[in-house]
Amino acid sequence: MSAGLEWAFEKLGLDIGVLRLQRMEDFYEVGPHPAFGHPLPPGEGRGEGRRIHVYLDLDRTVEAMGAAGAAYKQFVMEMNAIRTRLEPLLRISHPNLLELARRGSLSLAPFLFRTLGSVVSKLPREIVDAVTIWSHIAGQPIDQAPSAMAFVPALIHCVGAFVPADGMRAIPQALAENARRAGVEIHCGKPIHKIADLECDAVISNYNGIGTYDELVDTPDRIRKKLRAMPLQSPGLCAYLKAKSSGGPYLRFRVNRGLQLRVTTKDTVRMIMPFDRNTSEQEQSAELQRMLGDPWWRDGLSDVKLLHSRTVRGWGREMHLYRDSMNLAMTRQMMLRGRLPHRSPWIKGLYLAGASTHPGQWVSFCAISGILAAEMLHADHAAGSI
Ligand SMILES: Cc1cc2nc3c(=O)[nH]c(=O)nc-3n(C[C@H](O)[C@H](O)[C@H](O)COP(=O)(O)OP(=O)(O)OC[C@H]3O[C@@H](n4cnc5c(N)ncnc54)[C@H](O)[C@@H]3O)c2cc1C
Repeated sequence: MSAGLEWAFEKLGLDIGVLRLQRMEDFYEVGPHPAFGHPLPPGEGRGEGRRIHVYLDLDRTVEAMGAAGAAYKQFVMEMNAIRTRLEPLLRISHPNLLELARRGSLSLAPFLFRTLGSVVSKLPREIVDAVTIWSHIAGQPIDQAPSAMAFVPALIHCVGAFVPADGMRAIPQALAENARRAGVEIHCGKPIHKIADLECDAVISNYNGIGTYDELVDTPDRIRKKLRAMPLQSPGLCAYLKAKSSGGPYLRFRVNRGLQLRVTTKDTVRMIMPFDRNTSEQEQSAELQRMLGDPWWRDGLSDVKLLHSRTVRGWGREMHLYRDSMNLAMTRQMMLRGRLPHRSPWIKGLYLAGASTHPGQWVSFCAISGILAAEMLHADHAAGSI
């Protein structure tokens, strides 16, 4: 998602051109069906199983979908109309019904109260899994996911889907270089154990928001208990491979025991699979091996070499993840209640950025959240409150 990233880079006076973003024209493929326990209507998608192929080009996608194409196109247009009206709310710290009303968009409130499952309920059965795949890969049932997840197809066709030419690492690299130029000192590999021990006027924590309150500051017990009860999302299982690819879509989703995803760019391949955090590392390793043992993902690849792999626990250990989670689970309930505030209501001088705060997970949104937290700190400093 380039839009949020562009906005954040512009705020920092950085040219997003340094990332050399590549449009992933042949974007993703889901199949074969039936995939997630939704039986298909008789006669549809049986036999070898139907695959749904999504290109950034909407008309090409519609054509490839056959009979379901027209309904898909209408859905994308409807979702894009709602998405564009709500988009300004991504860039304010605490969106609520008042902000919606101020922008003349209060009529959209009922949509925001719905689940993803109810928004897609009228779509032809055979494309529902392809449209909602982003919730499935996050390990989330569509009847718990928020309606806003239905904006993803609109983003894909109306904005695009991009990968930096040198990989995602180009984003933190560009930001770190810019920060250093501005005189910021960056210390890597030095975990903070207690924020209270730091000599400073204010802290912006980009560590998991709940983890910050649970581990790094003295939070009242009542609040700590409430925060600890919030559902967390697992980073799943991942394998990093090198291979020669004969081409094909950037992302391929398959259901083999569980949902699996192959990500292919030039000579790099990633295999990803959602997996429960509440399992032993032994179970996670066994599932990872089973995923790698499935032959489907080797299709069109040669000279495959496994470079590294990560279990859920491995992610947690290597990336210092809070209780082996990547962020708060994006449920409808959490969307309605709101994420953790950028300015802490409980600890003076503490600000939060990252996936636990508005507008939420994904690199592009986390970039927006960093700007929102910094702007809040600036405003408080200018007002003399810190
Ligand atoms: C397998 C997988 C695939 C994904 N694919 C995509 C994708 O295609 N596109 C997309 O936009 N998003 C994707 N995401 C999501 C995206 O990676 C996250 O939403 C985003 O990285 C969250 O950013 P963050 O800044 O909140 O947290 P993080 O990226 O987790 O950053 C927090 C940082 O804090 C550090 N830290 C932790 N504890 C301490 C401490 N005590 N002291 C100091 N530092 C500490 C950590 O080491 C880490 O560097 C994916 C995630 C996963 C797991």
